[in-house]
Amino acid sequence: LVVLSGVNKHFGALHVLQDINLEIAQGEVVVLIGPSGSGKSTLCRTINRLETVDSGTITIDGRPLPAEGRELARLRAEVGMVFQSFNLFAHKTVLENVVLGQVKVRKINRDRAVRTARELLERVGVGAQADKFPAQLSGGQQQRVAIARALAMNPKVMLFDEPTSALDPEMINEVLEVMRQLAADGMTMVVVTHEMGFARSAANRVLFMADGRIVEQNTPEAFFTAPRSDRAKDFLSKIL
Ligand code: ATP
Ligand code: MG
Repeated sequence: LVVLSGVNKHFGALHVLQDINLEIAQGEVVVLIGPSGSGKSTLCRTINRLETVDSGTITIDGRPLPAEGRELARLRAEVGMVFQSFNLFAHKTVLENVVLGQVKVRKINRDRAVRTARELLERVGVGAQADKFPAQLSGGQQQRVAIARALAMNPKVMLFDEPTSALDPEMINEVLEVMRQLAADGMTMVVVTHEMGFARSAANRVLFMADGRIVEQNTPEAFFTAPRSDRAKDFLSKIL
């Protein structure tokens, strides 16, 4: 579904993505881990073209990422992204946050968009919060609204960049549970996370990045029990 081949990216002198080759299959859940600064966020951001690349190609469904204009807006809709900070529209209700993109980008009529929004808010467990404003919700609830908003765009793939790292511990699980359900429903997902329990239980594949390279990739069982590279062993010894 998503194919990166020979992708390179620099920030000035820093070679932040080095010859990345990666194929993500339909329905696959890929967890991306690695030390701070290894390029995980940058890799995610290239997939919906929040970052451009210096060389190499990225395709979704066989089509290269569009450079600009309406095609780019459609791409951003097809590739849902959920960040550490929830980025909800503060002056819009929860419901409106999930309605807006459907009407503006997908040109869906408002009644249908509202129905879809209510269904999605139910699905992520915040149906009762629909008429509140984001600031009136807990962090875990806001993040679940952000997931519903991304899903409302009917994405082909969902990118999650440390979706639980800004949350209080007791709220982490409610967000991970929504993500687990999404994975079980067959969504194609790329997840940057420090939640190794999630990686073990939900990932089809773990990618370990260091210094802008994919150093190692394996099933979660194999990766966590028998990492091959010294970088991965070192990393795991610090976090497990
Ligand atoms: P973390 O675990 O801390 O989130 P990461 O693996 O997500 O780290 P990236 O955010 O992708 O790492 O950053 C990779 C490197 O690129 C870092 O050294 C970072 O400082 C640098 N970098 C990221 N964004 C920019 C930018 N817009 N301009 C210059 N350098 C950047
Ligand atoms: Mg990051």
